Amino acid sequence: MVDELIDWDNFENDPFFILNFPQREMLSAQRFQRVAELLKQQAPKTVLQEEVEKIRLELNPNPAGQQQNMPFFEGQQLRGIQHKYDETVLFFPSQGQTCHAYCTFCFRWTQFALNEFKFAMKESDLLVKYLQSQPQVTDVLFTGGDPMVMKTKIFEHYFNALLDADIPHLRNIRIGTKSLAYWPYRFTRDADADDLLRLFERTRKRGVNVVLMAHFNHPRSLQTPAAREAVSRLLSAGVQIRSQSPLLKHINDRSEIWVENWQEQVSQGIVPYYMFIARNAGAQDYFAVPLERAWQIFRSAFSSVSGICRTVKGPSMSTNVGKIRILGVIERNGEKHFALDFLQGREADWVGRPFFARYNPTAVWIDDLQPVPEEPHFFYEEDLTSMTA
Ligand SMILES: *Cc1c(COP(=O)(O)O)cnc(C)c1O
Ligand code: SF4
Repeated sequence: MVDELIDWDNFENDPFFILNFPQREMLSAQRFQRVAELLKQQAPKTVLQEEVEKIRLELNPNPAGQQQNMPFFEGQQLRGIQHKYDETVLFFPSQGQTCHAYCTFCFRWTQFALNEFKFAMKESDLLVKYLQSQPQVTDVLFTGGDPMVMKTKIFEHYFNALLDADIPHLRNIRIGTKSLAYWPYRFTRDADADDLLRLFERTRKRGVNVVLMAHFNHPRSLQTPAAREAVSRLLSAGVQIRSQSPLLKHINDRSEIWVENWQEQVSQGIVPYYMFIARNAGAQDYFAVPLERAWQIFRSAFSSVSGICRTVKGPSMSTNVGKIRILGVIERNGEKHFALDFLQGREADWVGRPFFARYNPTAVWIDDLQPVPEEPHFFYEEDLTSMTA
């Protein structure tokens, strides 16, 4: 990041600098002041820490109801698993809960900073047993942190446990990672890089796809020789790579960046997958792009690339109820509305049903949206009430 990506001649405006180095404006002036005062008074360290902890807890440390996604299985809560959508189980290996670098927008920061929120599970046998009990699951998604911080030996342990269990419904092992942007050497010159690629190859030969859910915020991170080599080695090992990123002010809030992103990805053999809306957590105010503008950026980029780049879905909000896409702003009866649909839902039946919300030009998240006047609720809210009951 420091040597190959940040443009130090113009670092204040450099997307990679802003992505890695906290900016004063990422805290509200009032919160900044609370800490600044304590520092000025040379307050004791414990007092300072307490204030910092308070501020962290004010920044929505656990968005989208993640705690409620941990399944209860054989008499215990599985803290290293989240299972929200029928087909895909998230697995948080305990050795993979740190990252190569820390993104200033990340909602997963509680994983690193607040131990009581740490989802982690060493026991691969519990993972296997859980999967065996869930015949509708086709995908396991290793996530973190960034699981690619793990040594190949640890991947071997988990992958072998999954493969040896011979789970007939398991089709895809996905790995959510930023390593192609942050540390492409993981797949090239790291001591165990070759072993890792061989493990991926073996997995594929045993009938399970390995899919890298690669996180790229900016096309430049794909254009280094190291990233190109890593992508090419992964593809040669039979790994599929799909890409996702949030849309972020100060980083990538122009449609040309997305055009370049998707075109570069497709040239290298990567499939564009998701464009997300910045979550309602952490430094959201700093990074947020209004929903209408997000849709305009998406549409403008989407309409200027060829069909093979249009595998991308978005812009999508990962909310408590599901992944909600902004289909666009539309006029009905002379009034503007948002048209939305679910790309993923807590209920599979919610997916793909268009619905409307009242137009709100400043909305940046689902919480800012209201149903249209003739409908008291969004259609999914009744199902949700009965589910939580
Ligand atoms: C996004 C997400 C998934 C994966 O969804 P796909 O649409 O299949 O990529 C799984 N679980 C959770 C909690 C997610 O947010
Ligand atoms: S690499 Fe991913 S999990 Fe890690 S800090 Fe960045 S966005 Fe968060």
